Amino acid sequence: MTAPFALMYHSVARRSPDPEGLCVPPDTLARQLDALQRRGLRGVSTGELMAAHRAGSARGLVGLTFDDGYTDFLDAAELLAERGFGATLYVVAGRFGGTNDWDGNGWPLLTASGVREVDALGVEVASHTLTHPHLPRCPPARLRAEVTDSRAVLEDLLGHEVPGFAYPFGDEDPAVVAAVADAGYRDAVRADTGAPSTPDFPDLTVPRSYAGPGDGPVRLAAKHLRHHLHARVHARRPAPSRRPAGGRDVPHRSPRSRP
Ligand SMILES: [Zn+2]
Repeated sequence: MTAPFALMYHSVARRSPDPEGLCVPPDTLARQLDALQRRGLRGVSTGELMAAHRAGSARGLVGLTFDDGYTDFLDAAELLAERGFGATLYVVAGRFGGTNDWDGNGWPLLTASGVREVDALGVEVASHTLTHPHLPRCPPARLRAEVTDSRAVLEDLLGHEVPGFAYPFGDEDPAVVAAVADAGYRDAVRADTGAPSTPDFPDLTVPRSYAGPGDGPVRLAAKHLRHHLHARVHARRPAPSRRPAGGRDVPHRSPRSRP
């Protein structure tokens, strides 16, 4: 089965300074989307990507994901709609109408009504916690609140199920993944393509390739190719042992998740 291929974006704007390369200007994003289309790829939400993956038909799909929920996502949504592409926006459910205070760059975040507007456009809205902490450093009660309460806030706001999650800073460990499983999420995305902290929840440790302002058509194609080579190498390894449903028996340091 072809491994799912997903790209990770943040802000869609021309900003300076941008030392982490988190911004892709709208005209650059438009060219990148066109390049994907020329490669025969269709941009979809993580939910659609993973449903297709489970059905063995993710070939030809690329997950388009945007982290943090910046106000400029509305510009991206227009570019996506023009091409018939879907996407997932991972929002920080305790920071609506605020700014990015975790990196301290002050970039503005969508208000609650902005998030509803995005949902109404058909873009998947998913959780990126309440306050964007480093989850592996959170005590168990805080970890649970960040993962579970953010989902409840979004489901209240949107009036439907919110089954997607993204780890802030891409930071996860087995206790964090177990908390995401306990909260009932169906899929969760990481920030890189390396090995996850645990092989037990592949749908909750979905890798993503970083897409930056310097990614022209050739580099995007290289990332797509590298992803498939990487997936093939992983496919040669023995499959991880099957775990019972519920996922509460993952061995890790937190005594909380022991039944
Ligand atoms: Zn983030």
